[in-house]
Amino acid sequence: MSSLIDYPLFVFLGPPGSGKGTLASKLSERLNLPHLSTGDLLRSYIQKETQEAKELASYLAQGKLAPPELFMKIFTERLCEPESQNGLILDGYPRTIAQAQFLDQQVMRPDQIVFIHVQLSDEQVIRRLSGRRLCQHCQKTYHVEFSKPLQENQCDRCQHALITRNDDQKEVIQKRLELFHISHTPICHYYQDRPFWFNIEAIATPEECALELFNQLEKRLPETLTNAALTSIKETP
Ligand code: ADP
Repeated sequence: MSSLIDYPLFVFLGPPGSGKGTLASKLSERLNLPHLSTGDLLRSYIQKETQEAKELASYLAQGKLAPPELFMKIFTERLCEPESQNGLILDGYPRTIAQAQFLDQQVMRPDQIVFIHVQLSDEQVIRRLSGRRLCQHCQKTYHVEFSKPLQENQCDRCQHALITRNDDQKEVIQKRLELFHISHTPICHYYQDRPFWFNIEAIATPEECALELFNQLEKRLPETLTNAALTSIKETP
């Protein structure tokens, strides 16, 4: 690594399908901080036509974690980019204690990391993920119940066909949830003494969850941790 990551650093934790990616991207816009989703990072890596990319694709399709060595190579490359060094919003990382320990070594102030713990029941996770549809062309996401396209199975934006992500197939969702539960409790334990921990119930709409998060951050985060952009939260109804 070229240098340590400066703060503010936000880490989203929570089950697949809880909407943490959506919340992370809303926070990213609000704070003008880069949003690094490790799932997106890996999905863009597997677009390459290499043998390594093909192997990685098969892990993701089965709902398994990416192999540690390859994951670290891709992840650290991304962390070394200048835009990652002045504060970051992480989504999908850490998923193991080893990843949590690695992160602590890469940041200037581990005690200043802000954790956002997004909570949703397994039943809701399954309902959300199994109904999720994706336009493979422009990546816009839909839901068969909650966010239907105007025409069934067709993207409103670019008219391409919608697909179900490989890892949103029912058996794979179960696998992802299983893996999530195995690692989540130890990760929460690992971080239990950190001062900045926020719980968000993800059952409300994404807009309501975002508002709740922004309100909590505004109340509890010290000014030194928030960049100037956070003050704009006050100006938005
Ligand atoms: P979700 O959180 O809904 O499972 P993501 O888009 O965050 O979906 O991740 C998709 C897949 O990418 C995961 O199932 C896993 O295979 C892989 N992945 C993402 N983040 C990590 C990570 N930190 N370590 C290892 N594998 C990861």
